[in-house]
Amino acid sequence: MKKLLLTVAAILLTFGLVFYQAYDWDGRQGALNEEIKRNPDNNLYIIDAELNTKDKVLTAAQKIRYVNNEEEALSEIYFHLYPNAFKKKETTPVLFDEFDRAYRNGFAPGSIEIQYVSLAEDNELKPLKYSIIGEDETVLKVELDGILLPEQNVTIEMQYKVVIPPAFERFGFGEEHINMGNWYPVAAVYDEKGWNIDRYYPIGDPFYSDIADYEVTIKAPSGMIIAASGQLLEQRQQADSSIWTFTANSLRDFAFVANSQFEISERLVEGVLIKSYYYTGDEFRGKDALDLAEKTIRTFNQAYGKYPYQYYSVVETAFPSGMEYPGLVYINEDYYDLDSNYEYFVYTVVHETAHQWWYSVVGSNQVDEAWLDEGLATYSEAIFAEKQYGKSASKEYVGYFRETADNAISAKAIGGAVLKPLGEFKNWEDYGPAVYDMGAVTISNLREMVGDETFFDIMRTYYKEFKFKNASTEDFIEVCERVSKRDLKDYFDRMLQGD
Ligand SMILES: [Zn+2]
Repeated sequence: MKKLLLTVAAILLTFGLVFYQAYDWDGRQGALNEEIKRNPDNNLYIIDAELNTKDKVLTAAQKIRYVNNEEEALSEIYFHLYPNAFKKKETTPVLFDEFDRAYRNGFAPGSIEIQYVSLAEDNELKPLKYSIIGEDETVLKVELDGILLPEQNVTIEMQYKVVIPPAFERFGFGEEHINMGNWYPVAAVYDEKGWNIDRYYPIGDPFYSDIADYEVTIKAPSGMIIAASGQLLEQRQQADSSIWTFTANSLRDFAFVANSQFEISERLVEGVLIKSYYYTGDEFRGKDALDLAEKTIRTFNQAYGKYPYQYYSVVETAFPSGMEYPGLVYINEDYYDLDSNYEYFVYTVVHETAHQWWYSVVGSNQVDEAWLDEGLATYSEAIFAEKQYGKSASKEYVGYFRETADNAISAKAIGGAVLKPLGEFKNWEDYGPAVYDMGAVTISNLREMVGDETFFDIMRTYYKEFKFKNASTEDFIEVCERVSKRDLKDYFDRMLQGD
């Protein structure tokens, strides 16, 4: 157990905030395992949450050990509060502009209410000044009481209440499911451009985060099954609740899905415990998802380098498509119907699994450079097709990307560059063919130019060098040029800049 003596009395802050009772970490129910080795250079999130499935509310205490890995001193730290985007209809990030699909039972707001933010230092809590900013109120600015020098760390403690909206989205609930994507305050990335505090755009996956270690305890009513990023350390029964403890090292984000209707099939593959979560009655594709995840992990382990975690979950849920989170992906429940398009089901599982390499392990700025992970994940579908069905299948698949991109260009749906920030895309019709299809064609053409051997050498080098880091398009091009010993700037400019 963490030894933190919380002796601070309740006081009123000088700037007028009500001071909340300090959280009793010693009294928490979940298993804390001090044997687990943490990386001192990673941020560490310790979250103790309680999910009220009746009221659709989650309350949590969270401690973050934030490490200044930049070369500049910091006087403030920013966190994303993504649930606040769901407060108002105008800012809700509804996917594919399908408001009626997302709120089929009517709109109600979702949010995250911060109750206190304190510095946890020398066994004491010292309240910190904070404010909530941004046009959709999705940024928490915490002012440090002093300066955080490079390589130093600071521990911040907060409590908050998350109101889950009735949205069939990354974050939201329906009759059975509760999707918890991007639900907790996550530190923004500080890079050469400064703090990245972009809003929650309704186009793309507008996230950008650093690798961190996690220790997450979720208390939920008995009977509720929780599929989560990270490794399940313990599930403990307490009266009519279950307490789930998850742990993870060097993970980019932490998501979970709660549903009492889950059945689970699991299998150990090359050191990874793969789990498929599916609804009763959907066994056929639920078991197939497990086979597909196995084939995909084997294929990309060989093509790119080994998947570094011991866990991976493919989760059937109410979501309009597939969505990648580290160690866990959402797959649309409709794709589990035997009448639905089988290929679409297959390639959604493959695509989201490919994101474990491109987005999760090798991170990138998905707001400014969405093509980088989407282009690689989409092209990875062709690599899977090649491995499973041969070269002609893969060629046909790439032909489809090319045709989609060409059609969009001739229909003028793509407005200019592939490489541009999310805010500059008009809509999904502009974003999709540019980022996914042109992105995949860019990678496919690269492979044709440099040849198979060099291409896979590039991919493995890029994976190895940027594992657990964030890479930029420039970094990717640098690896391509170095490994292939070719000048590729003009090629990438032509493909990505739209001239
Ligand atoms: Zn994707």
